[in-house]
Amino acid sequence: PYDVLVIGGGPSGASAAIYAARKGIRTGIVAERFGGQVLDTMSIENFISVKHTEGPKLVASLEEHVKEYDVDVMKSQRAIRLEKNDLFEVELENGAILKSKSVIIATGARWRNLGVPGEQEFKNKGVAYCPHCDGPLFEGKHVAVIGGGNSGVEAAIDLAGIVKHVTLLEFMPELKADDVLQKRLYSLPNVTVLKNVQTKEITGTDNVNGITYVERDTGEEKHIELQGVFVQIGLVPNTDWLEGTVERTRFGEIIVDKHGATNIPGVFAAGDCTNNPYKQIIISMGSGANAALGAFDYLIRN
Ligand code: FAD
Repeated sequence: PYDVLVIGGGPSGASAAIYAARKGIRTGIVAERFGGQVLDTMSIENFISVKHTEGPKLVASLEEHVKEYDVDVMKSQRAIRLEKNDLFEVELENGAILKSKSVIIATGARWRNLGVPGEQEFKNKGVAYCPHCDGPLFEGKHVAVIGGGNSGVEAAIDLAGIVKHVTLLEFMPELKADDVLQKRLYSLPNVTVLKNVQTKEITGTDNVNGITYVERDTGEEKHIELQGVFVQIGLVPNTDWLEGTVERTRFGEIIVDKHGATNIPGVFAAGDCTNNPYKQIIISMGSGANAALGAFDYLIRN
């Protein structure tokens, strides 16, 4: 059996595996898609000490770093079940069962897509999901934020300080964000809020050049010219497979303490699949290291 089995091969899983292996304990890592969300990222400018890199390049160095150590890397494998018997058992989609004394869940999350024409086509060409990551790329430009919940309104406030103008589009007749956020939003001079509107299409040629929406009460179709669209309609943690095991928030995020421990002794979690509030590469790497040290502490006490 493994001492530590990491599920997930994004920055948090890679970091957890390295920290565990450096303790000289038997470590395995299972990843459906090694690299995770970083694989889908074009330009990364906030991975501290590296001024600029690209997702696939960072993933290649992550993998190289993991392979420096005696870690069993199981790529293109999906975990579908976690169970505790004498040891923890993780069942893979291919039928294999892996056994381990402790488990670190690092299965990340995915941004909910709008599902309108233009969204896929213009990803990384004006369609963005992370204001902390991509906000500065739109300096001086006009952008839209789709979604009037807390994350949408926070994104609009954040972007308003960087870009020229922000148009926020909300499907429902009212914004769902907290009152304090709405107050702050409405106090900003370069923000327009459109409520009760449905986004129809993101338009463009090489890059985004506009957005088409329908006013839901009149049925009238309108078009705005702009250069960027931030989709903020939810980040979904990849934790469905854990149904009935570790404790999760109502959003499906695994609840962890400051050691990265879940409610099940011996099961730890890290990165975007947890209730850590901020979802970033550098933060998920820190949280992977934290969970590995938590797991090591658990192992030497049990
Ligand atoms: P993920 O990266 O989501 O990795 C999850 C891993 O788990 C993957 O290997 C996945 O295949 C695997 N997995 C999932 N389910 C299973 C399963 N059941 N069995 C086995 N494996 C499974 N952050 C920044 O700091 N800077 C940026 O510039 C930046 N830009 C971004 C741009 C885009 C387009 C996106 C989508 C995100 C961006 N982020 C950026 C956010 C950053 O990528 C994430 O915060 C970070 O990748 C989270 O790491 P993670 O390891 O927790 O999860």
